Formats: sequence, C-alpha cells, structure tokens
Amino acid sequence: MFDSITGSIKNAVNKIRHKDDVASLKKAITELKKSLLKADVHHKTTKELVTNVELETKAAGIGQDSFLNALKSELTKLLTTEGNQGFVFSSTPPTTILMTGLQGSGKTTTTGKLANYLKTRKKKVLVAACDLQRLAAVEQLKQIAAQIEVDIYFDDNEKDPVKIAKAAQEKATKELYDVLLIDTAGRLAIDEELMAQLKNVKDAVNPDEIFYVADSLTGHDATKTATSFKEQIGIDGVVLSKYDGDTKGGVALSIAHQVGVPLRFIGIGEKMPDIEVFIPDRIVSRLLGLGDIEGLAEKTSAVIDEKKAKEVTKKIKKGQFNFNDFLDQLAMMSKLGSMKSILGMIPGLSGMTGALKDMDFENSSEIRSIKAMIGSMTPKERENPDLMNPSRKKRIAKGSGLSEVQVNKILKQFKNASKMAKKLSSKGGMKGLQNMMS
Ligand code: GDP
Repeated sequence: MFDSITGSIKNAVNKIRHKDDVASLKKAITELKKSLLKADVHHKTTKELVTNVELETKAAGIGQDSFLNALKSELTKLLTTEGNQGFVFSSTPPTTILMTGLQGSGKTTTTGKLANYLKTRKKKVLVAACDLQRLAAVEQLKQIAAQIEVDIYFDDNEKDPVKIAKAAQEKATKELYDVLLIDTAGRLAIDEELMAQLKNVKDAVNPDEIFYVADSLTGHDATKTATSFKEQIGIDGVVLSKYDGDTKGGVALSIAHQVGVPLRFIGIGEKMPDIEVFIPDRIVSRLLGLGDIEGLAEKTSAVIDEKKAKEVTKKIKKGQFNFNDFLDQLAMMSKLGSMKSILGMIPGLSGMTGALKDMDFENSSEIRSIKAMIGSMTPKERENPDLMNPSRKKRIAKGSGLSEVQVNKILKQFKNASKMAKKLSSKGGMKGLQNMMS
C-alpha cells in the first residue's frame, strides 16, 4: 500500500553512512524531502517534518538508527490528529454515521465497505439510501446490501432525503440496530444546495459522526474539499478512497494534519473487504517497512471462523479434507481482501514488488480451473475425492470445459496436497515445518 514511500524512506536512510557524519545526514534529509514532495505530501507538512527529523537526529547523535527513530516519532505525530480512530460506538445505539463526499468519490461503495466491516465484526447494521442526487445510487446501494447481506432502508416514493434519513433512524432505533450508515447526496463540486441539504439531514438525525469520503486520486484537491466540508458542515473523520490506484500515496500522510481531523479508514480496492482502519502507529510501522502483525491478526480473526478452522484441521489430520472444505477455505481467503494488502502487513514483505504482489488469487487461472472442476462434481464426489474413476473424470472434464489431462493433474495435486497437509499436521510434521521455517 505504501510501497513507493517506503522505498524512498529506505533510500534516504541508506544515505547515512558513518556515525556523526553531518554531510551524509544532509544528503538523507534532501532525499527524504524530495521524495515526500514527489509523493504529493503537502509542502508545509514536508518542511515541518524534515526540519524536526534533522534536529532530532542531531540531538540523538547522527546514525541510521537515530534517523529512523526521529522519522518514526515525527511520522506518528503527523498522522495522529485529535479525534477518534476507527469506529466509535455510541452508548445509546444506533450509532448514526453520515457518509458525505463528492459524486464519484466512492461514497456509496465505502458505505457498503464499512457496513461489511461492521457486519464481519458482529454488529447489526442498517444502511440508508439517501443519495437521491445520482440516478443509480439507490439501486447501487441495494445491490451492495444484498451482496454483503446487510439490511437497507430506502423509499422509492419519497423525494425528500431528510424524511428518508429520519425514517431509517426510527427503524434502526426500534429494531435495535448497532449502527446506521446514511449514504447522502454528492455533487460534482461543492455547491450551496448540496451543503443546505446535508445540513438539513444532519439536523434531522443528529449523527454521532460525519465521515467525508475523499478520492485520493484527486491529490491535493482531496485535502481542499475535505477542508471545505469541515468548515461548512463539520466532519469527524476522513475516509480516503481509491488508495490502491494512487501511485504517489502522499495524501494519506498529510490529509489529517492539513484538515485537522483524523484519517479513519483507507479504501484499497473495489471489493467489499478492501478497506482498512487507519491506525497511525501501525501505518508508521508499515511506512518504515516493518509490517503490521497486529493489523494482520485483527483482520484474520474477524473473518476466520474458529470452529470451522478446528474442524478442518481435524479433517486434515484424518486425511478427510475434501473439495467442499477446499471451497470453504477459498471463500475465507477472499474475505481477507486483496493479496497486495495482506503482503504489506507482513514484516519483510512490505517492500516487495513483482508478480506475487499483483496476483489476484481468486481470479488466477489455476483457481478458476479448480472451481470449474468442483462445480461439475456431484455432491458425493465433492465429499469423497476417492470416488473418482475414469468415467467420472471424463464427465467432469466435459462439464467443466477442462481437458481430461487437466482434471487428472488437478486431482493429483489435490491428493498430494492433502497428503502433505496430513503429514505436516501430525506432531513430528509440525516440528519439521518449524525447522524448515527457521
Ligand atoms: P459515489 O458517487 O461517491 O457514491 O461513488 P461510487 O461509490 O459509485 O464509486 C465510484 C467508483 O469508484 C466506482 O467505480 C467504485 O467501484 C470505485 N471505487 C470506490 N472506492 C474504491 C477504492 O478504494 N478503490 C478502487 N480501485 N475503486 C474504488
């Protein structure tokens, strides 16, 4: 996620060669400044940061460690703005959150992503379709809600978003929802009518928080529009969308500081799981290429069903892992989101470039072939891979559009993999695996 910035930071650190070498510190500072500006970090923010890093490094004694420590503390300071992180729930549910932003910023998608995030963390969520400005917005939210299986409130006969928002809040209160997310209207640019409507909705529902969705691809404009929204209706947090497409990436570093409200979440793809909580310490760790194990653990624990995981482990041990289990595992993987975002959280892999990082696991040709093959199997065959005989294989090949050679190859791979997993899951095997890893 922060690949290019992390790369530049590494370059800057490497400029410092010897202890107490003032000239090399200067070089490192120049490199840092250049790369932050190039990444679109605001010039004022950049200047403040590099000045402080230089002073702190000198005070602690010039060296790579002191430079990194100074950078870590300054980046943390920069990203930490007074206000909340992640979600904060009201003591009297529902927690009402108003989603605002310009048209096309990703507001409706982000509403869905946040609803999905809350749902996977066992919250009862209602989304309300109050964007009556963009023609397809209500329909889009209906589709998203159906996809993530979250309840939605809409009223196709009502033209007044204020009334819809109020009715949604009444429903959420009566039916004991934990969180109500209200998708509001956006415009192509900030205008008075939009602000007036937002103010009316705000006054009617008295939200606990107002989120502003900013498109990171608009660079410095994201900061400007967020500031405008803050001044005119008041916002409690920024959600930066489309960060996956932002090759520069610096907006995330300066937006909170510039606008004066915390950056709460970052959108990193078009799919529903592609959103992350922005927690300054963890982000700094990733910026410095140190990974984010805490974030990874939090992410996996939310989507991995412990009970199911235990059952699968048992099956593997007994050599009973079947094709249905395999499909379950695939579904769980896809809930984790993109491979790119996961790799960035593993220490040592954050700076990784190349094929693996861009791999779309779910849509790789191997996984698609396996899915097609399983799709052509009978329920009994899925439960018991040992049933496979030449005539069944022929039928499956025909049904899935694969050749018999491909079917044979996949079946063989599956068999080998479950044998291997069985071996590794036995006690001696686990030790063997640990030895291998160390
Ligand atoms: P709205 O007008 O603000 O409600 O915008 P939409 O939610 O319809 O989003 C506009 C476009 O941006 C859609 O094509 C979304 O799929 C896309 N989008 C939203 N968030 C992200 C993101 O984090 N990454 C990427 N790549 N696309 C996104």
